[in-house]
Parts: sequence; structure tokens; C-alpha cells
Amino acid sequence: MYIIPEKLISELISLKTSYSAVEDVFSAMAKKKAYNFPVIRESIGYSNALYGFKSGFDKESLSLGLKAGGYWPENESMGIPNHQSTIFLFDANTGKISAIVGGNLLTAFRTAAASSISINHLARQDSKVLGMIGAGHQSAFQMQAAAQQRGFEKILGWNHHPEMISRLEQTAEELGIPYETVSLDRLGAESDVIITITSSFSAILKSCQVKPGTHIACMGTDTKGKQEVGSDLVARASLFSDEMEQSITIGEAQHAFNSGLISKENIIEIGSVINGTHPGRKSEKEITMFDGTGVGLQDLAVAGRVVKEAVERGLVINVEF
Ligand code: NAD
Repeated sequence: MYIIPEKLISELISLKTSYSAVEDVFSAMAKKKAYNFPVIRESIGYSNALYGFKSGFDKESLSLGLKAGGYWPENESMGIPNHQSTIFLFDANTGKISAIVGGNLLTAFRTAAASSISINHLARQDSKVLGMIGAGHQSAFQMQAAAQQRGFEKILGWNHHPEMISRLEQTAEELGIPYETVSLDRLGAESDVIITITSSFSAILKSCQVKPGTHIACMGTDTKGKQEVGSDLVARASLFSDEMEQSITIGEAQHAFNSGLISKENIIEIGSVINGTHPGRKSEKEITMFDGTGVGLQDLAVAGRVVKEAVERGLVINVEF
């Protein structure tokens, strides 16, 4: 069994490799070659933590396994990321464990890959302004991955906690893209692409604030009850997701679905756009929305790439188990 500790992950995978791993598995999901098992996510009643498991199997790559972990909101004050996770991979032929891989950076990479895949396949080609709602740990990765997909000339940012906004300023500076902190009205009126990546439990962005032609990647809602945008905006948009079942239960679409504004048929899995069986965006005026709920197969896909790279470079710890 291989062990790949968290501290090695940054040497073993890039945002570009993560993009390719996640795009492949979204494609396999749409071809019904890969499927996610039901998510377990529990509030454990201690440390305000959410803990659970995401798992699945991809028959194309033979990835089988799970990610265990969750969200500890007080961690940042102790100098460690709020998300804590570990990925366990198993041999699909025998069921024996094959690898344990640090999952913290990989969670950020695979989540950023998902929104950037949606931008690549759904945003207008002439998109120039990126709007960022959320300035937590994930937001920097989201911005970096988005910047690889379109020639953004400006980034606009908004955050519920103003003291966190410096993360957006710094990341934009590193990317060499001019940045401005603005009101939600301005962000919606000027952005061609909007990423929401917050822990909000009520709608932040309203439909009336968003201009036609925008692509919105809703990435923060991964639990029952969370919400980042108005249900009317979800209903107004052409809606895409990583996985429809997760969208309507734990994703951004849950509220519009539960109130009857949309049905399952309104949700297109992004893999079918990747595979060319759905055209994706159909007009320049259309609002497209990606509901990125985060599926276990994303974690297995990036962990698989890490293991391959680590073995090739002799960087694994190999233990008899
Ligand atoms: P973080 O704790 O570092 O930052 C939290 C962000 O949410 C900050 O921008 C904060 O200002 C904002 N926020 C908190 N309470 C809010 C409120 N009431 N209203 C509006 N904004 C509020 O978290 P993070 O690591 O950046 O993750 C952000 C979110 O993304 C979390 O909800 C996390 O569960 C989710 N997430 C989703 C996926 C996925 O695959 N979809 C993957 C990883 C994380």
C-alpha cells in the first residue's frame, strides 16, 4: 500500500493535471461508466464540524475508493485549513487497499478544476470580467483555475466578511489581473463569469443583479440547507451540474427543486457537454449555471494521478498492509 502525505501533494499535481483528471471522470459519468455512491455528511455535534464520506467507482480508470473528511470552521484560527480530508484508494480487482493520499490540497484542486471545466465549456468566449463571491481558502484556487480558461482583464470581488477580501486582492495580483472590491450590484452588472464559493445558508446573489450572457459557477453549496444564489436565478439559468442527484439534494439546485421551480429534466450533467452529446451554451444572451456539488469520483481521479506521478518519481512510502 502506498502512502502519499499531504506535504508532498503540491509537488505531484498541478491545476492543469487536475483539470484533465476531473474532465475525464465527468465524461465517464455521463457515459454511465462511472458512478458515485450516496454521500454521507453529518453534523457530528462537536467542534461545529461536518464529517462524512464521498465515494464511487470509475470502470474506465478502475478508480475505486472514498474520501473521508469534512469541514471544521474553527480550524483557520489554529492555522490549519477548515477542510480536512484523506483519500483511500482500493484495487478494483481485489478490494485490497492500494493507497492513502492526503486530500486537503486535492480537494481545492479538484473543486477548482470543476468550475474551470464549466467555464471552459459554458462561458462566452469573449468573457473579460470575472466576479468572485467568497474569499475563503478555496477562493484563491478557484480564481487561479478560472484564469487559465479565459483572458480575463479584470476581477471583481465581494465577500460577506470584509476582513478576508485581501485573499482575492493578493491572488489577482499574483495573476497580474487588475482587481477591485465592489458591491454585489456592480459585480453582477459587470461580470461575464461569476464564481460563488462561500459557506452561506441564504441567497447572496439575486437574479435581478445578473446580466444576460453570464456564466455562474456555484461551488460553495455542498450540503443540505446551504444556498448562494436566489432560486429564481437557478430557474432562469440553463442549469448544468456535476451530478444531478447531488444537485437536487445537497447542491445549489436543491431550493429551486424543492419549491417546484425546476425539475430533474432541467439539469444537464456537464459530462454530456464534454462528450458533445449536449451543445452546452446555445446563445450569447443565455445565463448558464454550473452547480458544482463536489463528487467523490473527482477526489479519486486526482488522487489516482498523484499516485501515478509519485510512483514514477519514487516519492511514495510503500508499506505492507
Ligand atoms: P472558508 O471557511 O475558508 O471560507 C468561507 C467563505 O464563506 C468566506 O468567504 C466567508 O466570508 C463566507 N461566508 C461564511 N459565512 C457566510 C454567510 N453567512 N454569508 C455569506 N458568506 C459567508 O471555506 P472554503 O474552504 O473557502 O470553502 C467555501 C465553501 O465551499 C464551503 O461551504 C465548503 O463546504 C464549500 N466547498 C465546496 C466544494 C465542492 O466541491 N462543491 C469543495 C470544497 C469546499
